[in-house]
This record gives sequence, C-alpha cells and structure tokens, in this order.
Amino acid sequence: MSVVEQIKQAETIEAPRLGEPYLLTPGPLTTAYGVKEAMLRDWGSRDAEFIAMTAEMRERVLTIAGLNAPEFDCVPMQGSGTFAVEAMMGSLLPRDGKALVLANGAYGLRIAKILERIGRDHTLIDKGDYLPPRGEEVSAALSADPKITHVVVVHCETSSGILNPIEEIAEATEAAGCKLFVDAMSAFGAIPIDLQRVRYAALAASSNKCIEGVPGIGFVVAPKSELEAAKGNCHSLSLDLHDQWVGLNNNGQWRYTPPTHVLAAFVEALRRHAAEGGVAARGGRYSGNRDILVEGMRGLGFETLLSDRWLSPIIITFFYPSSSAFDFNRFYDLIRDRGIVIYPGKLTVADSFRIGCIGQLGEDVMRQVVEASAAALREMDIQDASPPAEALAEREKLSA
Ligand SMILES: *Cc1c(COP(=O)(O)O)cnc(C)c1O
Repeated sequence: MSVVEQIKQAETIEAPRLGEPYLLTPGPLTTAYGVKEAMLRDWGSRDAEFIAMTAEMRERVLTIAGLNAPEFDCVPMQGSGTFAVEAMMGSLLPRDGKALVLANGAYGLRIAKILERIGRDHTLIDKGDYLPPRGEEVSAALSADPKITHVVVVHCETSSGILNPIEEIAEATEAAGCKLFVDAMSAFGAIPIDLQRVRYAALAASSNKCIEGVPGIGFVVAPKSELEAAKGNCHSLSLDLHDQWVGLNNNGQWRYTPPTHVLAAFVEALRRHAAEGGVAARGGRYSGNRDILVEGMRGLGFETLLSDRWLSPIIITFFYPSSSAFDFNRFYDLIRDRGIVIYPGKLTVADSFRIGCIGQLGEDVMRQVVEASAAALREMDIQDASPPAEALAEREKLSA
C-alpha cells in the first residue's frame, strides 16, 4: 500500500469509541461510529423523510448489484438474513417448482431446512463441510432430474469461508434451462456478481455484513418479472415478498413496523460504502485484511482449512494447533482480553476457529489480531501452532 493510501485508510477506518472490542466475526461486526450515530433520532415510519430513506436504500442496493435499471428491484424485509432467504424461497420458488440446493456448510443446509419446513419440493447436493459444489455436478443432477426448476447456491459459505464457484454453477444452471437463487449474504458489497456472467433470478443479502450496517434488515434483489410472478405464491403473510414489494411501490411504506433506526444506520453505511469506492474498494480492503491475517497466522504456524484458491476475503477458518497445550476457550479469552472477539469453528471434520476480515477494520487491526494470537500462544506455552498432519492431508482433497 502506498503512503497516500495508508493515510487515506487511517482517516477512514476508526477505532471503536466506546471501548468495545473489535468484532472479527461475520456480522454483527464492527461498525463505524457514524453508522451507530445515525440511530440516535427517531423516525416516523409513514413520514416523508423515512419514505425517502427507504427509497434511497433500495436504489443504493441496486447500484451495488450493478442493476440500476428499470427492470430490477430491491425489496427489503424486516429481520435477519435468514428471513430474507426464507422470503425469497417461499415467494419466488413456484409451488409446483423443485429446487436443487447446493450445500457445503451450515447456510446451504439451512436453505434445505427452510424448503423442508415450508413443504417445497427439493433435493440436496451436500458436499460436507467445505468442498465446493462444481458445475459438472450441477449439470449431472439437472439432467438426471428434469423436475428441477431452480438451483440455490451460497456465494460465500460463511461456515468455512469458502468462496463457491458460482460462475460455473450459473452456467450449468442456465444451460439446463433452470433458474438460480443466490444466498449472497456474506459476499454482497465486497465480491462482485456480474449478472452477465451469473444469471440469477434472485439474490438475498442483509444489512449487517459487507455493507457494515447493524443487524435487522434483509433484502432481495430480483428482476421485476420474478416479483410479479410471485403473486399469491408465498406460504407466509409476513414473509411475502410480492406483497411487500407491492406495498412499497404503492405508498413507499413497509407493510408492518419497519426497523426505523436500523434503516437509518443502513443508509449511512450504504453512503459510506459508496464513498469508500463501492464494491471494488470494499473487496480490496477485505482482501488486504485477509492477506495480513493469513500471512501473520501462518508465520505462527497456524494453517488455513482451505487452500489459497478457495480462500474468501470474508472469513478464514484456521485449524487448531496440534499442541496438547492448546485450549480454544483459553485462547479466545486471552485474545478477548486484548480487545478482539474471534469466532468458534463450525466444522464437523476438524477442530477449527474462524476470524473474520469484514467490518470497520483495516490492516492495523489485523496485525493486532496476529500479535494477540502470538501473545496468547506464548501464555499457553506453545512454540508452534502447526495443525495435525491429518488436517493438512484432508486439505489436499481440495487441490484437485
Ligand atoms: C449470515 C448469513 C446468513 C443469514 O444469517 P442470519 O443469522 O439470519 O443473519 C445466511 N447465509 C449466509 C451465507 C450468511 O453468512
């Protein structure tokens, strides 16, 4: 990074002002003070100012998606990201449709669970903890089962941090005449999805990940034709994306009480996202964060679950060290004492923990994370944080 860039980053990234720790977690995450400050006043949900804020939010999300054209729209939904995914699936998957869910972690499996719960026909390709679903597998599954109408993929599977190959999956889906839904929750705003290369019928994401807002709003981006076709399809009243969309378009208002303060913070976060330089700049900062983190942790002996090819700039999974002196809870507390919150692992095959690269954080914070990890190892009397050999052998499967 050049000196000028460093000064610019130092100006834009601020330390938490209230003494709270840095959240190296994939959302909720560390937000800018100005984002939190935007929540200090009250807004009437039917007031013109609030209606204008909702419109600005929808427009800015479409800009980030690269879809600022009259044939697309953004529909916000109250709740966390899962509410938006459930609204997308329940509203946009036709009742007589069938979905192929591609899972390689908790979030893919959650989509299958949603479909199970709402009684929609579906089938699952489960790649386990972190192997990526590939285009050829999707092609094979679609030609074996002509009832399948939709494929659902998670862009960045946050449970391992793997960046799934959605271009080849989109290509296979389109070639078979099917439509694609994307859970882009932890990637939207930092990793571009070009609709020319990834033709999707809908994408869901939320306020509290790469946009760096606070939790409470999910949203779906889709062509208006998909939203129109969803009329009367949803199993749920509150999660009906079509009704929400029609309501917003009629009078600019949300159907039920909107999270007013969360929206104010979200709009502030969206403005800051644009001011930083949009998706490219946000993704660039997170990639820089990842590189400092991975290099520093590898310097201590830690290794990543994923080989470099699949590492996202969103969240990184590290194996536990093989040393018998390692105790994750102690490691967590020692790092927490230095003002940093990390994340437990979510794998079944290997013991691991995760460190996020997203949020109002720059390279200096990532260096602090590495220093805190080094200090914690010293206190635990561990000289080398290398994982067991079997863990690395497991990773070799991925290089294929
Ligand atoms: C965060 C996340 C979700 C939504 O989780 P919530 O806890 O409901 O916000 C869904 N999918 C992915 C990939 C995520 O990272």
